[in-house]
Amino acid sequence: MVTIATLGSHSALNILAGAKDEGFKTLLLCERSRTFYERFSVADEIMYLNSLSEIKDPQLQETLIQKEVVLIPHGSFISYLDIDSLETEFTVPILGNKYLFRHESDRNLEREWFLRANVRIPRTFSPDEIDTRVIVKYHGAKGGKGYFTADTPQEFYHKQKENEEKAEIQIQEWIHGVTMYFHYFYSPLNRELELTSIDRRYETTADAVVSLPNREPTYVVVGNFPLAIRESLLEQVFDIGDKMVEASQTLHERGLIGPFCLETIITDKPEIVVFEISARIVAGTNIFVPYSPYSYAKYFEPMSAGRRIAREIREAVARGRLKDITT
Ligand code: ATP
Repeated sequence: MVTIATLGSHSALNILAGAKDEGFKTLLLCERSRTFYERFSVADEIMYLNSLSEIKDPQLQETLIQKEVVLIPHGSFISYLDIDSLETEFTVPILGNKYLFRHESDRNLEREWFLRANVRIPRTFSPDEIDTRVIVKYHGAKGGKGYFTADTPQEFYHKQKENEEKAEIQIQEWIHGVTMYFHYFYSPLNRELELTSIDRRYETTADAVVSLPNREPTYVVVGNFPLAIRESLLEQVFDIGDKMVEASQTLHERGLIGPFCLETIITDKPEIVVFEISARIVAGTNIFVPYSPYSYAKYFEPMSAGRRIAREIREAVARGRLKDITT
């Protein structure tokens, strides 16, 4: 009997609540300090670790395999396990395609994915080509720390000097519009793409009640808002989702499996411009426990992202196809 497990962070409540909904045993792997998970009812068992990076330990992996664990990866999981060891040394089955995590973590590989999918993305520039407003992004800058905007090459060089950053950068066209994050689920069993929900992030200091003039905002995510999109735009939403799934199959033969998210900005055309992908569950789905307007219109029963994952696992087990949805 499969046990659904995840790490105590990010979207663990959502994932484990969904697993319980579908009748699975649940296991939470958790840092010792995070005893607050005991205050909820979603984990049948909690294994405390000194650090989440202990998940790499071969003995622990063996214990998880003995327990028939399917591990659900989320944002924190990816940051605690470097991608090389995840691909080569991690043998516990995880839901989804771990070979695509490399493509979401590296801006150049990610861009390659978008180009193959032929979705609208921000143009990129070298410093001297800047002829419109741009946003300058550092690789791996969590929360947009150090990001800045510029309108000309001169302004770019001036601000870059101020930042004294030597790290690799990407200069992107600044897209004028509002952000929307689309949460999808691709089922390899049904060969079908579903829209599970939509959110926008609550970011400090970008969403600060009082903004100081002349200070670049930062984008540290501290919460999420639910969103329903203007219904006629759903055609574009499914179109870009389908294209990303199709393109994923050219990057790795298994392609996208299960939950993923496209981070976008919608202009006043209105056109959806994609600037990032996460090839796994995102925390924006947490506000849709037990369901969203979109999952309800598909299932007519509570169907959160966590539950949708567990449902896929349950069906895969029933059809003897667990290997088709795990890597
Ligand atoms: P993550 O935690 O998702 O990796 P991050 O810290 O790397 O995020 P981004 O998601 O790349 O940062 O961008 C942070 C914010 O900057 C976005 O939420 C969005 O509001 C804004 N942003 C990003 N790219 C653009 C763009 N091309 N045009 C306008 N705004 C943008």
